[in-house]
Amino acid sequence: MNYYQLFDYKRPPVGRAIPPGILKRRYHDALLKYHPDKLALQPPGQPMPSIDEIKLAYQVLRNTKAREAYDKQLLLHSQRPANGAMTGLDTFHIGEEVIDLDDMVFNQPSSVWTRGCRCGEPHGFQVTEKLLDTATEEGCSEVVVGCIGCSLWIRVGFVVEIDAETAEAASTLIQLSVS
Ligand SMILES: [Zn+2]
Repeated sequence: MNYYQLFDYKRPPVGRAIPPGILKRRYHDALLKYHPDKLALQPPGQPMPSIDEIKLAYQVLRNTKAREAYDKQLLLHSQRPANGAMTGLDTFHIGEEVIDLDDMVFNQPSSVWTRGCRCGEPHGFQVTEKLLDTATEEGCSEVVVGCIGCSLWIRVGFVVEIDAETAEAASTLIQLSVS
């Protein structure tokens, strides 16, 4: 199952734009479909992506550059013989390396977290507060960032510290969006 199949695309819309609103709706649909409470309803033998995988897929597909890299890999895989076909989400190599936001260097006053890349770019990976905010709004605790100097990608996990009031508002929002 690739990320597009995860979001119920029969055919990957490779090279075609996906309107953000539509992607978001499909993301929410996938979250519902593969919610742990609903897994019993799935036919046996069906792939069961985890919620984390769905969130990661969304982070990749909504990011133009990450999606480009993903599409490239998807095409490579589809050109392989049948025995080399994609069998799971784990065949995707974007962001294989997961690091913690705490392991990045926080730069003031630009409020950007950076990390050196093995290509030699000292601030190759950059995570902005805005990126974190957007991911948080989508209920994600991970972002995907590409190096500015090469084609490497990493996944950055972060912990969101929110007060009770915000948490309540957030859960209301989620309930609204899934109903
Ligand atoms: Zn690099």
